Amino acid sequence: MMSRQHLFIGEDNAEKLKKKKALIIGCGSLGSKSGLNLARWGIGKLTLVDFDLVREENISTQEYLLEQLGESKVKALKELIARINAKVKVKVIEVDFNPRNAEKLVKGQDVVIDGTDNLFTRFVINDACVKNKTPWVYGSAFKTQGRVAVFNQEHCFNCFMKGKQSSATCSQAGLVNETASIVASLQSVLAVKLLLGEKPPAEMILMDLWKQEFEKIRLKKNKECETCSKHAYPYLS
Ligand SMILES: [Zn+2]
Repeated sequence: MMSRQHLFIGEDNAEKLKKKKALIIGCGSLGSKSGLNLARWGIGKLTLVDFDLVREENISTQEYLLEQLGESKVKALKELIARINAKVKVKVIEVDFNPRNAEKLVKGQDVVIDGTDNLFTRFVINDACVKNKTPWVYGSAFKTQGRVAVFNQEHCFNCFMKGKQSSATCSQAGLVNETASIVASLQSVLAVKLLLGEKPPAEMILMDLWKQEFEKIRLKKNKECETCSKHAYPYLS
């Protein structure tokens, strides 16, 4: 019996997904939701990177259960994934993703999912992914505002975000669970499209759930970009 998701993409594509690998960097709100989504799609392998523990304040916006308090997030997410789809291979890596380990972690992956809550780490993900020619799916969820985009060598995160300052984090300003759910859902669908060989358009989706506002903006390559144009990769060491 084929799953309903596989009825939609077809048997050949379902087989294709079984051979694909995704790296999830950060297993908080976006990462935990994306991990479960990709497990439901039947992806072949997930590598989960996070060094944090499940805490009480995470339960309202992340997929963890009360009985998992105090466990490492990567191990807790691996347990949840196994209860949804035991065929998915899951590798857990309890480290913080940083300029020194970024390239090693991205190498060999078919797609990277951004589950971070930190502007600097996204620049590091971007450098490692562009250098390795791996597409990555950016996601940001903050209060009721969300953003999603695919970045690659043709229009990277640094082209768009260079010089922009980081705002407050969710732990300071709050997050509405549904914002994270929608952002993670869009990230997972974009990841599946990339894994099946589709090329998503060069655009960013922006939303405000409280105001029910959704819009798209075009992303353009910056010919002076140190990452995708000059290949200097300033965020790797
Ligand atoms: Zn660029």
